[in-house]
Amino acid sequence: KKVADRYLKREVLGEGTYGVVYKAIDTHTGQTVAIKKIRLGKQKEGVNFTALREIKLLKELKDPNIVELIDAFPHKGNLHLVFEFMETDLEAVIRDRNIFLSPADTKSYLQMTLKGLAYCHKKWVLHRDMKPNNLLIGSNGQLKLADFGLARMFGSPERRFTHQVFARWYRAPELLFGAKHYGSGVDVWASACIFAELLLRRPFLQGSSDIDQLGKIFSAFGTPTASQWPDMVYLPDYVEYQYVPAPPLRSLFPMATDDALDLLSKMFTYDPKARISVQQALEHRYFSSAPLPSDPDKLPRPA
Ligand code: ADP
Repeated sequence: KKVADRYLKREVLGEGTYGVVYKAIDTHTGQTVAIKKIRLGKQKEGVNFTALREIKLLKELKDPNIVELIDAFPHKGNLHLVFEFMETDLEAVIRDRNIFLSPADTKSYLQMTLKGLAYCHKKWVLHRDMKPNNLLIGSNGQLKLADFGLARMFGSPERRFTHQVFARWYRAPELLFGAKHYGSGVDVWASACIFAELLLRRPFLQGSSDIDQLGKIFSAFGTPTASQWPDMVYLPDYVEYQYVPAPPLRSLFPMATDDALDLLSKMFTYDPKARISVQQALEHRYFSSAPLPSDPDKLPRPA
């Protein structure tokens, strides 16, 4: 059936946080699209605001490494968001045991992730929900950041964010300590977790609760000291932890190159003020040294 006299609905692609996602054909262009249907009306007002925020943000974000919002319209009490159709996502790639990821492939996926983020951060937009299933992959192998539903301007006067926005395993330590004023560093930490996941082929820090998540972080990197992270003690949920020494990072990533390990450690810096920025990460020698990042159209993808 045709929606808005333009889109031919096909099968259901999946169920998201706010509603169903359909595959559809744009009869104006012949292009395959993904339509996210968001229930409005009787729902809590928050859903409306979240959706409207997402639209406004997404419409302003146009970049090769960002999923494009093609159209947005209300239809039968639902808000429809039309996105370019993406074949798969990074989680499916990482999980697929038939896929071998070379160091050049990993480099390419990380570079595309950081390029999309760098574009957003330049526009003062945080993603805030970086995780492998939000990194979609198109038919040409391009990786694009999706799901800006939780993203929000961080230069605005209303800077007190809720801190429970992240999938726990990708959450930065400042969020786990209850920080209400945080910045682009939260996306860098999450990207580091994704980098680690590409190297290990499994989620790196799998906490079963927020407390356990901090425990997993501390056993990987050692408990942060006040000299490493001076502002830590002022965070709302800060509590003193028993000292844990850091094992050599090398022991956790035996197969990583020295360049990869150096960049990873700079992205996993405790103090968000000292953490490497996305732009600096892109300029790290990891990306200019051999092997160079694979061409996106030559990257391995699920069959
Ligand atoms: P969530 O809100 O849980 O993060 P989404 O609403 O983003 O989930 O998406 C739900 C499902 O729809 C995803 O698992 C994915 O399979 C599919 N999907 C979302 N966006 C696209 C897209 N642009 N192209 C193809 N499939 C998509």
